[in-house]
Amino acid sequence: MRHADEYMESLKEMVPNVYMGGEVLNRSEVPGNDILCATFDLAHLPENDGIFTATSHLSGEKINRFCNIHQSVDDLLKKQEMTRIGARTVGGCIARCMGIDALNALSVITKQCDMAHNTEYHDRFLAYIENFQKNDTVGCCAQTDVKGDRSLRPGDQADPDLYLRVVERRSDGIVVRGAKAHNSFAPLAEEIIVTPTRFLRENEKDWAVAFAVPGDAKGVKLVVRAAKHRDRMPELAGLLSGKGECESLTIFDDVFVPWERVFLCGENEFGGQLAVLFALFHRHSYTGCKPAITDMLMGTAALVAEYSGIEREDHVRSKLAEFITTAELVYGCGQAAAYKSVKTPSGTMMPDMVYCNVARKHAGECLFHEYNLLADIAGGLPATLPYDTEFTSPEVGELVQKYLKRKDGVSVEDIYKCYAWIADFTCSSMAGVLQYAGLHGGGSPIMEDIAILGTYDIESKKEIARKLAGITKK
Ligand SMILES: Cc1cc2nc3c(=O)[nH]c(=O)nc-3n(C[C@H](O)[C@H](O)[C@H](O)COP(=O)(O)OP(=O)(O)OC[C@H]3O[C@@H](n4cnc5c(N)ncnc54)[C@H](O)[C@@H]3O)c2cc1C
Repeated sequence: MRHADEYMESLKEMVPNVYMGGEVLNRSEVPGNDILCATFDLAHLPENDGIFTATSHLSGEKINRFCNIHQSVDDLLKKQEMTRIGARTVGGCIARCMGIDALNALSVITKQCDMAHNTEYHDRFLAYIENFQKNDTVGCCAQTDVKGDRSLRPGDQADPDLYLRVVERRSDGIVVRGAKAHNSFAPLAEEIIVTPTRFLRENEKDWAVAFAVPGDAKGVKLVVRAAKHRDRMPELAGLLSGKGECESLTIFDDVFVPWERVFLCGENEFGGQLAVLFALFHRHSYTGCKPAITDMLMGTAALVAEYSGIEREDHVRSKLAEFITTAELVYGCGQAAAYKSVKTPSGTMMPDMVYCNVARKHAGECLFHEYNLLADIAGGLPATLPYDTEFTSPEVGELVQKYLKRKDGVSVEDIYKCYAWIADFTCSSMAGVLQYAGLHGGGSPIMEDIAILGTYDIESKKEIARKLAGITKK
C-alpha cells in the first residue's frame, strides 16, 4: 500500500492537462489532493486495519480497500463503514469511491458480456485490476455524458459527440471522442474509468463503450473548477483550513485506447446494464457518506445549540431526532443491501437494488431539509460572521470578541471557531457543491425512482390488497 507522499510524487510526474482559471496547472496545485492523501493515511492507521484495508482476491495481498473488488457481505459492510469514517474525517466527499465503484460494476459486466458474446473483456479487466491494486491507484469515474438535448437519444443529437463514442476501430485499439461532465476529482486521479450513461439500442453500438485511460493520456483535457471554504488563519481553522475540491469537464479529443484497456465496445445491451450497475455500487457508497454528512450537520447543530444555551429546547431536541433518524435509516438500509447482496458469476458481490436506491433517495430528499435544520438552530451568524482577520485585529478584535460571546463558560474563541466551521460547511461555495452532489451525485432523483420501480414487486402488494378487500378475481 502506498503512502500519501508517494501518491503526490506520482501526480507531479503526470503531464499537465488541467485547465483552470486561465492556467494549465500541475496536479499538485489542484485543490482536493489533501482529501485523497487522507485515503492513504487512513489505511495505514492500526485502528483502521480491516476497514480501510482488504485482502485482494487476486494476489492475496493486503490492499487499500479503495482498490477492492467486493467478494463477500463483509466486504460491502466494511466499504460502507470506511466511507462513513472517511467522509467524516475529511469533512465531505472522500473522493476515491467513484473509481472503485465503476471497477466493481465492470467486474460484473465484463464477465456477463463474455458469457453472452464470447468476448475477452473479463480477463483484460482482471489483468487491469491486478495492476490497479498493486500500484494502489487512484481512479475516478466518468459516466455522465454531456448529453446535449435531453429529449434526444445519442445518435439523434445535432452533434453525435454529445455522448462519448468510438470514432475509429483499429487493430491495436479504438479512438474515442466526447466529453464527460461533473467528473469529480478527475485531475487528482491517475486513471479515468469511463462507462456509458444510459441504455443503448442496437443502432447505438458506437456509444456502448467502456475503458480506462491514464488521466494524462494524449487527447484528454480536464477543464476544471474548484470549490473551497474561505481562506482561514491556520490558528483559528480546524482540519479543513480553507482547502477544497475540484470537478472536471473531461474532454476526450480523439483519444487512443489500446485494446487491453477496453472493457466494452459495441455490445449495446451491456452498456445500459453497466450504467445501472455503476449507479448501484455508487449508491451503496452513498449509504456510507450521506450518513457521514448528517453526522457532521447533527453534531454541529447539537454543539451550536449548547453554545447558544438552547440545547434543552423541545424544537432543538426534535430536530436532533430528525437527524438521527435520517442518518441511521440510510446507514441501516446500506447494511441491509449488503446482507441481501448476491454473488454474480464474476464472484463480485452485488448489493440489493431496492435497499440501495431507497436509501439514496431518502438521503437526497432529506439533504436540503437537514441544512435547513442546522440553519434554524444556528441563526444567521454563519452568513454574517466577521473574518478571522477582524476577530484577531488589534483595532477591533476585542470588540468583535465581546459581541460574539454566548453562553458563559464557553470561550469566545470556541464560539467563533464553531460558527466559522458552520459558515464553511453550510454557507460557502464548497457547501453549494456538496448540496448539488447530495441531490444529483449518483444520478438525479428520478433515476432512483426508476431503479426502485423497475425492481420492486408491486404486484405482490396488490395481491395483499385484493385478499384484504375480499376480491378473488385477478
Ligand atoms: C457535484 C457533482 C459531482 C458528480 N460527480 C460525478 C462523477 O464523478 N462522475 C460522473 O459520471 N458523474 C458525476 N455526477 C453526475 C451526476 O450523476 C449527474 O449530475 C446526474 O446524472 C444528472 O445529470 P445532469 O447533471 O446532466 O442533469 P440532467 O440529466 O440534465 O437532469 C436535470 C433534470 O432533467 C431531467 N431529465 C433529464 N433527462 C430527461 C429526460 N430524457 N426526460 C425527462 N427528464 C429528464 C432530470 O430528471 C432532472 O430533473 C456528479 C454530479 C454532481 C452535481
